[in-house]
Amino acid sequence: MPEKMLKFVNISKENPPKRTVLNRKADFNEIYKEFINKKAGEQSSRCSQCGVPFCQIHCPLSNNIPDWLKLTAEGRLEEAYHLSQNTNNMPEICGRICPQDRLCEGNCVIEQSGHGTVTIGSIEKFITENAWENGWVKPLKIKNNKDQSVGIIGAGPAGLACAEELRKKGYQITVYDRYDRPGGLLIYGIPNFKLEKYVVERRTKLLKESGIKFIQNFEVGKKMKLYDLKKKHDVILIATGVYKPREVELSGNDLKNIFPAMEFLTASNRKGLGDKVELFDNGTLNAKDKNVIVIGGGDTAMDCVRTSIRQNAKSVKCLYRRDKKNMPGSAREVKNAEDEGVEFLWLSNPKEFKGVNKVKSIIINKIKLGEPDDSGRRTPIVQDGTEFELEADMVIKALGFDPEELPKLFGEEKLEVTKWGTIKIDFDTFKTNISGVFAAGDIVRGASLVVWAIKDGRDAAFSIDKFLKNKIKEEQRFA
Ligand SMILES: Cc1cc2nc3c(=O)[nH]c(=O)nc-3n(C[C@H](O)[C@H](O)[C@H](O)COP(=O)(O)OP(=O)(O)OC[C@H]3O[C@@H](n4cnc5c(N)ncnc54)[C@H](O)[C@@H]3O)c2cc1C
Ligand code: SF4
Repeated sequence: MPEKMLKFVNISKENPPKRTVLNRKADFNEIYKEFINKKAGEQSSRCSQCGVPFCQIHCPLSNNIPDWLKLTAEGRLEEAYHLSQNTNNMPEICGRICPQDRLCEGNCVIEQSGHGTVTIGSIEKFITENAWENGWVKPLKIKNNKDQSVGIIGAGPAGLACAEELRKKGYQITVYDRYDRPGGLLIYGIPNFKLEKYVVERRTKLLKESGIKFIQNFEVGKKMKLYDLKKKHDVILIATGVYKPREVELSGNDLKNIFPAMEFLTASNRKGLGDKVELFDNGTLNAKDKNVIVIGGGDTAMDCVRTSIRQNAKSVKCLYRRDKKNMPGSAREVKNAEDEGVEFLWLSNPKEFKGVNKVKSIIINKIKLGEPDDSGRRTPIVQDGTEFELEADMVIKALGFDPEELPKLFGEEKLEVTKWGTIKIDFDTFKTNISGVFAAGDIVRGASLVVWAIKDGRDAAFSIDKFLKNKIKEEQRFA
């Protein structure tokens, strides 16, 4: 972890804000450089305290934004920190990677009036970074340890938020994960330039110090069936995320150097974490000096193109079948990619991969947009006779993710899923159809956002607590 990154400056009239200190060596704060220079206090004082907190309404966690902005503007950062972490288990993470343009900042009244949003996410990050620096972020001290235990499958943001909330209430928590490190997509999906890995590791270390037990390299279904794991705990939460990559079935699909996005991103993240990654070191999963084509228009595609740029690819192109206006990803991410030199080919669809053993090029068709479909976005229609060819040494498919077949994987055919394969729950209680088994996060919503996973984890914890209290009451009644 980098040593000193931000130096807190007590902001007041007598002591006006000075420049905060940024450790550039640490590849830190790429996205928020501008904010760091503008200073947290100045930005916070731009909040008009408008009285109708649209920012708060559009934050999935209902963060008390106006109040922590006011406290920050007044230099009362410890209070701002406590207020902020009351509603968010990972404020410094959301501050970095929430698509604020679609959530809090996009709805800021000052933004709406054309004067540029208060940089809420950056201030949220600043408050918590400052709290870490000052030693205000501490492991939980549990006064009322309980005997009841909860097993959580999945150490992503949904599982971790639920684990922390339940541990606060004294329950014994064990988190099982099939990866070797906790964090889920925070650690192996989202690239380091958006979310530095020490930030995630610092959080999970804190949870361990709070008494939460982590069991890594434990794939539920392979190591133990859901039914048997359930016997070890009073309650199980399933928070396994969605990992099955969507496919394009094209001729040449089996050529070498065509990869699913997660394979490429995981290799890069592992490298960043200091692991030995043979397929990266031997050049297979490294974009250096290659003509890279990424297929897809979501945030994962943006992460792939921007990672390729950082690996010094010869050229990076993004192929998307709709136009810029209809892209599913964050507009801010597209702009970042464009600024960094990524070339976008809108209204373009891959038709065929060509090459001998290895991919050499892609044949592409142009697209015309038709009427809006069920999702409200215009349907892409392939234009015959518009084919053209583009050179490619590496192709990355970033077409989204679907849930794995959990009932089969867990050896629990009774577990009910929707037609999309996500787990069916009662949305008021997060209960699945199996008594004592709850579910939260992407495995319920489908691929979504970190902030929603945290919200679900917190709400599931509330419901699990209620369930366990009732269970004790029932046991006492029949004792
Ligand atoms: C490349 C990429 C970039 C993204 N960027 C952003 C972003 O910038 N901002 C944002 O808000 N969101 C982003 N997202 C989405 C966000 O990461 C997810 O919505 C969020 O992580 C979901 O949290 P989760 O806890 O439900 O699942 P996950 O984070 O996926 O965690 C699930 C965990 O369950 C474990 N698991 C799965 N199956 C088993 C099993 N059988 N046994 C044991 N463990 C198991 C997995 O190993 C994993 O650790 C991104 C997603 C991707 C793929
Ligand atoms: S959690 Fe996300 S949406 Fe909510 S205030 Fe923070 S950055 Fe904005």
